[in-house]
Amino acid sequence: MTNTRIIHHNFAYHGPASLDEALKLLTGSDVSLLAGGTDLINKMKLETAHPREVVYLGRLEELKEFSDRDGLDIGAMASMTVIERSKVVQAAYPCLYEAIHSVGGQQIRNMATLAGNIANASPAADGPPALMVLGAQVEIGRHGPEGRVEMRKIAVEDIFSGPGKTILEPGEMILRILVPAESAAGRADGRIRGSAFEKNARVKLDVAKASAAAFLEIRDGVCELVRVAAGSVAPVPLRAKTVESALKGEEINIDSIKAAAEKISEDIRPISDVRSTEKYRRQVMKVLVRDALLSAFERAKGGSGEKAAH
Ligand SMILES: Cc1cc2nc3c(=O)[nH]c(=O)nc-3n(C[C@H](O)[C@H](O)[C@H](O)COP(=O)(O)OP(=O)(O)OC[C@H]3O[C@@H](n4cnc5c(N)ncnc54)[C@H](O)[C@@H]3O)c2cc1C
Repeated sequence: MTNTRIIHHNFAYHGPASLDEALKLLTGSDVSLLAGGTDLINKMKLETAHPREVVYLGRLEELKEFSDRDGLDIGAMASMTVIERSKVVQAAYPCLYEAIHSVGGQQIRNMATLAGNIANASPAADGPPALMVLGAQVEIGRHGPEGRVEMRKIAVEDIFSGPGKTILEPGEMILRILVPAESAAGRADGRIRGSAFEKNARVKLDVAKASAAAFLEIRDGVCELVRVAAGSVAPVPLRAKTVESALKGEEINIDSIKAAAEKISEDIRPISDVRSTEKYRRQVMKVLVRDALLSAFERAKGGSGEKAAH
């Protein structure tokens, strides 16, 4: 039986003091980045990951930077605790606050990063659905010619390629996560906006059986922009395009939201596993999507989005 207190295999540990050095180390073969370690260390103890080299990012101060002025700029090593304590995140990006706040316990969030949450690519991860409905992007870096850092940006919703898999190429790492200011809740340019995240888990500290995030932009009572994302109900977190099509351009009210949420079954591909059954996931997703949309609607109107009896 695996002893979960011990990492059995030998590996080289690096703690680079500059991003350049970290990216150079990443050009080696069989290298894993270590951020908060809340996924990677567990996998190494459980012997499902056996990197020959581990590159710890915790000495890179520039990756710990976090800004909530004019959108969110979240360094790859900013802890979830730093993000969830931001008053701007709590007020203007409530779906992200709710998603992060639902991750594990406080000790986990003190260590865990959003970049690690994305790169680990669990279909059940809580960060991605919230980031997807906010239209977030990741900035990716790699070691380029003459020591330059080559960078590219990609939408969070395009980064996942399968359970535990991303489109990141060998040598690439996530540097920052960027959330546009246009996704902030509130009133601007004659439009109102709101967002929310809902999760169903066996117990508070567990990962999701199913989750849903929603973002709404409304003008004169009509839904101009809607993004809905689902977690733990397909091999990757995904946008619920059928639900979105049912609401876009429509008058927004409790009835149109309920009707749209019923369509979530057409967007998802849940399985039965240790956490839940396909049937339950299909049922509960209708409720989660409905509640996320209703809370986003309430918040857009200036309410708290606290759960009412629907
Ligand atoms: C008790 C417990 C409860 C948990 N509950 C939840 C939960 O409710 N919801 C949830 O979503 N998750 C949960 N998790 C999983 C975990 O905490 C999160 O996925 C966390 O965000 C991972 O971040 P990290 O910084 O610890 O990543 P690490 O473990 O350091 O890394 C994870 C993976 O990402 C890679 N990586 C890290 N940083 C980068 C980067 N900058 N660029 C490219 N690749 C990178 C690593 O190489 C590794 O493969 C839980 C974990 C534990 C132990």
